[in-house]
This record gives sequence, C-alpha cells and structure tokens, in this order.
Amino acid sequence: MISEQIKSIQESLPEGVRLIAVSKFHPNEAILEAYKAGQRLFGENHVQELIAKHESLPSDIKWHFIGHLQTNKVKYIAPFVSLIHGIDTPKLLKVVDKEGAKAGRVIPCLLQIHIATEETKFGFSREECLEMLSSGIVSELHHVQICGLMGMATNTDDEAQIREEFHTLHALFEELKASYFKDVSTFKELSMGMSDDYPIAIEEGSTLIRVGTKIFGERDYSKK
Ligand SMILES: *Cc1c(COP(=O)(O)O)cnc(C)c1O
Repeated sequence: MISEQIKSIQESLPEGVRLIAVSKFHPNEAILEAYKAGQRLFGENHVQELIAKHESLPSDIKWHFIGHLQTNKVKYIAPFVSLIHGIDTPKLLKVVDKEGAKAGRVIPCLLQIHIATEETKFGFSREECLEMLSSGIVSELHHVQICGLMGMATNTDDEAQIREEFHTLHALFEELKASYFKDVSTFKELSMGMSDDYPIAIEEGSTLIRVGTKIFGERDYSKK
C-alpha cells in the first residue's frame, strides 16, 4: 500500500532528512494516495509528464525535477519547479538563470556530481565542478540559487562501494560549504539515496532521499 509505505519511510527518517516520492511513470491516482498520506514533495524526470501532473494535481505539491534536463525544455518548468536536482553543465545553469529571470523568480538548483563508475550517468566530475565555481559565473547569475549537490551511486550490490561513493560526495559537499559557499546558508542540501540504497545514503549525510519503487512499486515503462 502506497500510504503505508509513505508513512513507514517518513517515520524512519532522522531529523533533517526529507523524502521525495519519485512518481515518474505512475498515474495521478497513485500520487493522490501518497498525497493523502501527507506526502508533498514529488520527483519527476520527464518534462512533459511533470507539466501534465503539475496542471492536474493539488497546487501545494512541491515538484522536484530529478532527471537529466535538456536546455530547450527548461522554460516549461521554470515557472513552478521547486528544485532542479540535475544541473550538470555550466550551460544548463545559465539557461535556468535566464528562464528564472523570465519567470520572475530565483530557481533553487543542485549541482549533479558524477560519483558512480558507470559512464552512462550524468554529472560534473569533481574537477569540472571546482572549475565552474572558480570561474565566478555563479555570482553573476541572479535567478538561480545553488542549494547543494546531488549524486547517484553505482547500481551494484557492493554496499562498501556505494557507501564510499556517497562518502566522497558528502566530503565534496563539506569542502564546498567551507569554501565557495562559506556564509551561504542556503547551500545545505545533499540529494542522495534511492529505494535500494537510501539507508546507506542517510548514514553518509543525505538530506534529501529520492525514493520511487519502494513507495509505488515497479514502473510500467510499456505505457509510455
Ligand atoms: C527514478 C529515479 C529515482 C528513484 O529510483 P527508485 O529506485 O525507484 O527509488 C531516484 N533518482 C533519480 C535521479 C531517478 O531517476
């Protein structure tokens, strides 16, 4: 049961960790069931699907965009998105800033860091991230706010490896918090952990876990 899963995960969370219910590929009825159980943060990774759900579901839902975001689609979500987790290039950050300006708001964002061994995953390397921050572009952008980092661990059964990857991401987060984001109180989120690895992520300092399957069951990709 969706509502029971929401409640049991919510009750297990330590203070300072928030649950994002990843509702991609699941219908509005499933989302409403989670909503009725008190869930308000939801994550989606396709722009069209996110727009359709935003338009048809309660307006106090906070929508997080958790997937790979194409620059030409930013404009569609800029007016309402609560947090964009997957900023993975300086170009995307600039486009989000431009669309934030058009929408008359400051858009909260996370920088995605590539911590997994798989090549297929997106994100800045540590070096690319440091390079972008030292280039100074962030201070020129007034319609984005970098609130922290996001990462995905390797899809493996090796718990030690997963822990090590989350640990590395947390260390980079602390390093940036003590340097580029010193005195920036809004730099405080570390988005890591999914259905299979969120307990490890929490132990390693996550503040936002992104959980789909464990709440809603398997996704039915054939419907899309
Ligand atoms: C789909 C997805 C999740 C949720 O994955 P589950 O294994 O179903 O919990 C989390 N983060 C991102 C970026 C995703 O695309």
